Amino acid sequence: MTKPTKNEIIKSLTLQKEIFGDELFISKKKRNSIVVKEPSASFAEQELFPAEKEKWEKTTSLNELEKLICKCTKCRLHEKRNKFVFGTGNPNADVLVIGEGPGAEEDKQGLPFVGRAGKLLTDMLKAIKFEREEVYIGNVVKCRPPENRTPMQDEMDTCMPYLKKQVELIKPKLILCLGLTAAKGLLKKRESLGELRKSIFEYEGAKVIVTYHSAALLRNPHWKKDCWEDLKKFRKLYDAP
Ligand code: URA
Repeated sequence: MTKPTKNEIIKSLTLQKEIFGDELFISKKKRNSIVVKEPSASFAEQELFPAEKEKWEKTTSLNELEKLICKCTKCRLHEKRNKFVFGTGNPNADVLVIGEGPGAEEDKQGLPFVGRAGKLLTDMLKAIKFEREEVYIGNVVKCRPPENRTPMQDEMDTCMPYLKKQVELIKPKLILCLGLTAAKGLLKKRESLGELRKSIFEYEGAKVIVTYHSAALLRNPHWKKDCWEDLKKFRKLYDAP
């Protein structure tokens, strides 16, 4: 028998997929040994192989979440970290501020935005009448990327479920994303920061505004004017009934 060509295999699999969907193909012998239960009404919505939930996914408290994930070793960033930077602030905050990832000072102290960029962030919040203590501040990745490089996509993907869980527990009304990396990580968008700044997004029931990262503002102070417009928009959104 001649071997099928690549095109023939693709055609055959495409046809099979159309008929069978993403079902797993198993041997006849094994198939016969499986007891098929009647599908429930919501069968189509069920995951085929639902993964066992990890303990942290089930917690209902931020404190417990921190305890459960602070020794995380799921990505390479844990190797060089000093401290895991979980996030700080009001656990019932209406406003969640999200940065990229810890820098040197944050890695030393285990707290987000405590360096120069953090001081500017505190001033930015004050300018729109928020005290730092009344909001919650976190990051897309919880461990410092070496030499403050941008977190890699796989590092963000690995860490994002923790942030998602934080959002689930805090239930903020508004999220302020600082910089393109935070916006990309949270919103999975590919547009430029300039584009993202123009829109109001939604994430897990919260409205999201994207603006410049405070560290970028330290390097490029002429962006502060545009950032101020974003911040006023953010405050207006917060005050809206
Ligand atoms: N930059 C960030 O994105 N996060 C911090 O926590 C500090 C600096």
